[in-house]
Amino acid sequence: MIAVYPGSFDPITLGHVDIIHRISSKFKQLHVLIAESTDKNYMFSTQERLEFLQLSLSDIANIHFHFTSGLTVDFAKSLNADVIVRGIRAVSDFEYEMNMANMNKKLAADIETMIVFANPQYNFISSRLVKEIAKHKGSLKDLVPDCVLKAFEVKFIHK
Ligand code: ADP
Repeated sequence: MIAVYPGSFDPITLGHVDIIHRISSKFKQLHVLIAESTDKNYMFSTQERLEFLQLSLSDIANIHFHFTSGLTVDFAKSLNADVIVRGIRAVSDFEYEMNMANMNKKLAADIETMIVFANPQYNFISSRLVKEIAKHKGSLKDLVPDCVLKAFEVKFIHK
């Protein structure tokens, strides 16, 4: 099976890394997709986010990285993907993910959304909170991969 794991990854956190490690062995190919949304402002450029993904996940053999400004389902169809994987951290994620899954089902009936529950060790981590902590120069230990830590240091600490 071919899977697509879409997200903003602004930036990738250890929660994303954990999900990707857990699911990569379950599929023949795993395509991690930076899916750009028009109504979001990103802290890191697409290029930076792609580099973080590549540096953090270089140990996984069947992984591929992409970017789209279009619809995730269109990207998934272009690859003949079987599933879209999304993560759920808490009940608060549920409604959004259910709406998205139902809409994607409407747009692409053959593609299933698979939900993976966040590891309890990481289920409080979000890219939004990580950015907030970084802006206030708080500790990001155990929250993000090393390459992201370094990028935040350059952005906020060495300035
Ligand atoms: P989006 O803007 O599409 O929600 P994110 O990069 O925030 O993109 O998240 C991508 C996917 O990863 C989503 O399914 C989200 O629920 C999941 N995710 C985010 N943080 C974590 C985490 N700490 N543990 C597990 N899954 C997570």
